[in-house]
Amino acid sequence: LIYLFNFKITLGKNGVPVAENFRLEQSTIADTVQAGQVRVKTLYLSVDPYMRCRMNEDTGSDYLRPWQLAEVADGGGIGVVEESKHDNLAKGDFVTSFTWPWQTVAILDGSLLQKLVPQLVNGRLSYFLGAAGITGLTALLGIREKGHVAAGANQTMVVSGAAGACGSLAGQIGRLEGCSRVVGIAGTDEKCSILVQEMGFDAAINYKKGDVAKQLRELCPGGVDVYFDNVGGDISDTVISQMNQNSHIILCGQISQYNKDVPYPPPLPPDIEKIQKERNITRERFLVLNYMDKQEASVLQLCQWIQEGKLKVRETVVEGLANIGAAFQSMMSGGNIGKQIVSVSK
Ligand code: NAP
Repeated sequence: LIYLFNFKITLGKNGVPVAENFRLEQSTIADTVQAGQVRVKTLYLSVDPYMRCRMNEDTGSDYLRPWQLAEVADGGGIGVVEESKHDNLAKGDFVTSFTWPWQTVAILDGSLLQKLVPQLVNGRLSYFLGAAGITGLTALLGIREKGHVAAGANQTMVVSGAAGACGSLAGQIGRLEGCSRVVGIAGTDEKCSILVQEMGFDAAINYKKGDVAKQLRELCPGGVDVYFDNVGGDISDTVISQMNQNSHIILCGQISQYNKDVPYPPPLPPDIEKIQKERNITRERFLVLNYMDKQEASVLQLCQWIQEGKLKVRETVVEGLANIGAAFQSMMSGGNIGKQIVSVSK
């Protein structure tokens, strides 16, 4: 007997996702493992903003398949092999996939799984869904591919969504790569204080309090050279207005727009677009999946920084598959600090 997490109702492109969009069911899986397959027990699942797009029939991207009604949802996951009929996998191996089904136990095609080395993350397996996985890769490769960060160039970086999974790493990596000043923007005072006290940001702004433009001017007196944009919308318009000539936006995500029926990336308002063009600010779409040839070396770099204590990692962990819908809803509305993880079994 296993538990499945089904996608239950479509939301509509303008809806805010809630836990009730999903339902938990009991089911059975095949009792035999075929050649090439493995039976895995799910340990950790990831909930991520892109899943909001998978709740639409038209996801807006050719690389994202829509979740189908009444079928098991899937996403990043980690588990342990319990039985193997695949040559390269053995009982006890830890494995991961981007398309892990949201169920407690599953029979999977072994060739679609990547083996994990827990020692690389000091045994913190769930880091492979965050700082040592896609999230860390997004922060590192976003900065390296689109940030134009140069050591010694006295650059100021601003990060929005700064206390989230990508953002909290992006600010730290910006510093490691050579930015001289790093300022975060996040949604609570607690998040802002963690960014400064734990993660080495120079300053952080709570965008739900006070005048963001004024605080940003005070905290970035030389203007903004690199903007790691996770959120889009008003926050990004404010940051772009204070960017320097020939500066760079890392267009990572636009979460403030994901519950709206707008194209991706959403066009800038005309006055902001004018600033962007006049100041020659780059704003190229960035998609981490386009740089998977750099995955192996980049994951090793991230793991090395984690082991050396140069990259501080935060997670918000929810226990139990039954709570994955609530975890998704919470992450989409700011309930997480660092990576939102669902711990399914020990
Ligand atoms: P996350 O930042 O850990 O979680 C989402 C955060 O977004 C929330 O904690 C919340 O924090 C903030 N947020 C939600 N609604 C907002 C709004 N209206 N305005 C401002 N902030 C809002 O998620 P993540 O996985 O690290 O993803 C961050 C961004 O990276 C997303 O846009 C995602 O799509 C993108 N991404 C892109 C790639 C790529 O290849 N380009 C890959 C992975 C992720 P507050 O409390 O601060 O509001």
